Amino acid sequence: MAQSSLSPSPDTKSQVTLAYDNQPVYICSKCSAIIALQDETVSKAFSGRDGRGYLMHSATNIKFGRREDRALLTGVHTVADVFCLGCNERVGWFYHKAADYSQKYKEGKYLLERERLVKENNWSLDE
Ligand SMILES: [Zn+2]
Repeated sequence: MAQSSLSPSPDTKSQVTLAYDNQPVYICSKCSAIIALQDETVSKAFSGRDGRGYLMHSATNIKFGRREDRALLTGVHTVADVFCLGCNERVGWFYHKAADYSQKYKEGKYLLERERLVKENNWSLDE
């Protein structure tokens, strides 16, 4: 599946990564594949399609759906749904382009649905 050369093409891995050097991560609520590092969170105050969402700099273990223009709360955006590589569950979408200048900062970032993720803190528990 070739990515358009017009878009920043985040690398899609063919294998599911299940460990990430003990960093706090978000994992798929269905199959536990790592979807994103918590360090990569831009904002937690976003709206997904089904509820709250996280804006993320990067995501892993995902694949892209068809690119389409979608009218979101903040205007028309060119997005592609992203799916978990492990179980094909839709976990959010990727922002290719924002029509409105004030929304340009989202381009090249991911919106991940909070409902589809489980927060996993791999921190040690000594306080
Ligand atoms: Zn999954």
